[in-house]
Amino acid sequence: METQHRKNWLRKTEIPVVIAGPCSVETEEQLMETCKGIAATGKVDMLRGGIWKPRTSAGNFEGVGVAGLPWMKKVKEETGLPITVEAAKAGHAEMCLAFDVDVIWIGARTSVNPFSVQEIAEALRGTNVPVLVKNPINPDFKLWMGAVERFERVGIENVGAIHRGFSNTGEKVYRNRPQWQIALDFMKARPELPMICDPSHICGRRDLLQPISQKAVDLSYDGLMIETHRDPDNAWTDAKQQITPKRLGEMITELKLRLAKEADPDIQNSLSFLRQEINEIDTDLLNLLVSRMGVARKIGEYKKKNDIAIYQAKRWEEITSAAKEKGSSEGLSVEFIDKFLRAIHDESINQQEQVMKS
Ligand code: PEP
Ligand code: MN
Repeated sequence: METQHRKNWLRKTEIPVVIAGPCSVETEEQLMETCKGIAATGKVDMLRGGIWKPRTSAGNFEGVGVAGLPWMKKVKEETGLPITVEAAKAGHAEMCLAFDVDVIWIGARTSVNPFSVQEIAEALRGTNVPVLVKNPINPDFKLWMGAVERFERVGIENVGAIHRGFSNTGEKVYRNRPQWQIALDFMKARPELPMICDPSHICGRRDLLQPISQKAVDLSYDGLMIETHRDPDNAWTDAKQQITPKRLGEMITELKLRLAKEADPDIQNSLSFLRQEINEIDTDLLNLLVSRMGVARKIGEYKKKNDIAIYQAKRWEEITSAAKEKGSSEGLSVEFIDKFLRAIHDESINQQEQVMKS
């Protein structure tokens, strides 16, 4: 199948791939010791290292630059694992190629800028080096997809996406809000492309890595990219979110890989029964919505005859507050009820408007 084939450049087994390595390459020793520790876990498929670091604030460590590339090449030779490096400019991409970098990744502060992405893509034209594109820092599905397409258009066949979360100001739990739906939409739009989760940049703190990684595995992501350092607390960048190679090995072992095949007859039976139930409920829901809209149109006719405005704020308030209370007492999230009712209400208003205009 074509779908499977396109993913295969990265993921060759049922088990998600693991990419690990330091946020930043600091010294040759730090890189070598970290990567040897990672390789020794036997659970990692590719090594990462940041050579040029796009920092938010000025005056911070901005990476060792080109000097780090021979070190990356050396860890590749000594561990036998392929390497990936971030390129933020055309020149970075060219240097990566010169030092046999196996996969280039595009960072979140680069994928946000179509000009930069296009320049890097042009630098890679005719090379076919695989490229992984991180989501842009802002929650913009099209911008992310557009960046991926720029690489495809210059002829790169092996592309993929990395979900690293979206920048947020209010929330305190995650450094970058996951907004899973955007990544799931990506996977739905391009199921043949590998999707990697970067729990390190989503979480921003190491104690949350495990549940976020598990969630990615449960959502059928193709892999994980996890920042790993020989001495995380003293890392020059992203110290709070990095883990030791030892912890990385434990964490991957702790992940529950749900590899049971849907094709298994027992699983098929139980699932098909439950799916049938879902189908019936969905049909009921749809029929109820159709009836509800029928009533909305009748209300529209009444309002038209009596010159009453369509939108009645007080009525809307009554509907939503009762539903939120009932729904949340039954375990539904208030956010979901709100979205669900809003969608119904919007359609009701549309239907009433059609009646008013007719
Ligand atoms: C990184 O991977 O170290 C990095 C800079 O990530 P992001 O582009 O996701 O912020
Ligand atoms: Mn980092």
